[in-house]
Amino acid sequence: MTTFHDLGLSKTIVDTLTALGFEKATPIQAKAIPLVLEGSDLIGLAQTGTGKTAAFGLPMIEKLLADARRPDPRNIRALVLAPTRELVNQIAENLRDFVKKTPLRVVTVVGGASINKQSEMLSRGTDILVATPGRLLDLVARKSVTLTQARYLVLDEADQMLDLGFIHDLRKISKMVPKNRQTLLFSATMPKLIGELAGEYLVNPKKVEVTPPGKAADKVEQYVHHVPGKDQKAQILRKTLTDNPDGLSLVFSRTKHGAEKLMKHLDHIGFKAASIHGNKSQGQRERALKAFRDGEIRVLVATDVAARGIDIPGVTHVYNYDLPEVPDAYVHRIGRTARNGRDGIAIAFCTPDEAHLLRDIEKLMGIQIT
Ligand code: AMP
Repeated sequence: MTTFHDLGLSKTIVDTLTALGFEKATPIQAKAIPLVLEGSDLIGLAQTGTGKTAAFGLPMIEKLLADARRPDPRNIRALVLAPTRELVNQIAENLRDFVKKTPLRVVTVVGGASINKQSEMLSRGTDILVATPGRLLDLVARKSVTLTQARYLVLDEADQMLDLGFIHDLRKISKMVPKNRQTLLFSATMPKLIGELAGEYLVNPKKVEVTPPGKAADKVEQYVHHVPGKDQKAQILRKTLTDNPDGLSLVFSRTKHGAEKLMKHLDHIGFKAASIHGNKSQGQRERALKAFRDGEIRVLVATDVAARGIDIPGVTHVYNYDLPEVPDAYVHRIGRTARNGRDGIAIAFCTPDEAHLLRDIEKLMGIQIT
């Protein structure tokens, strides 16, 4: 067992972690923290749920504290980029827990919220800025913030940022942060473009890996229901949900429209359901996530983008109501259950015209799904 003290973190941080119930480091933390402390650039192959926020956050906070200068107005000392509003908020929530007993300020900027308020927050100077790329560039263009004092750049869920079309934004931002910096890149998968990005913007990076891509948590039991057509999916879902009244179920739909329709159907037949997807406002998404986390609603219907990286420890069932077009997405989806050492069940529905998608998934994972 590796303690945070063993990894070289100071007493203040270790005490905060103890208060948070973090006693021993997760594998990615044990590997990454010493490397980040010694100043290396880092490529981390890890999914959300492995403890990667602390893996980059703790050593970065430690170093920011050691160099006790205050950020100038409209300047930042460290930048964390993440693909979605939900992830930005989740990362910032974690970091704020870690800096509670320190003078460090964590600020978030995301699309869909008031830009004036964000500009105002930035005017006081920021230690750690957590941002989605698009909104950050808007704020840079308005001169609400400059990145020239930043010494740390973290690209989190880099593969997802590429999927969402943020490549140009990432390049622009990477050029705005001075070369004299430490860069940490985390990604669940390593497509070629991420390798190129890392080659361009990281210097002699060390590589750490926890769950190799394509390997889901061992604790997820996976099943597939072969169904003749779409209509039967709703029937089977209804039956399985009824059979597991105490479960917390995350249902994946390929489209926003499909997610909304399915949520309304489930609600209509008496399930406590909500949905999150790109057509929902930030407030609606946050309320739905909170109700799901608290167990007030038992079924959350989501699209991949909206649900990516979301960390809800109690999820018992993940349904692939539609199989994803990209096999990697299946791995991300089922990784939403069996977290923190619990068990989880993943159930996929497969119509004949989705059979090729199932084959791709099985090939990627090197298994056959029962
Ligand atoms: P992450 O992969 O960073 O999203 O972390 C997943 C979850 O695990 C978060 O809810 C963290 O608060 C929690 N966590 C991270 N590291 C530890 C640890 N060493 N001990 C206990 N919980 C942890």
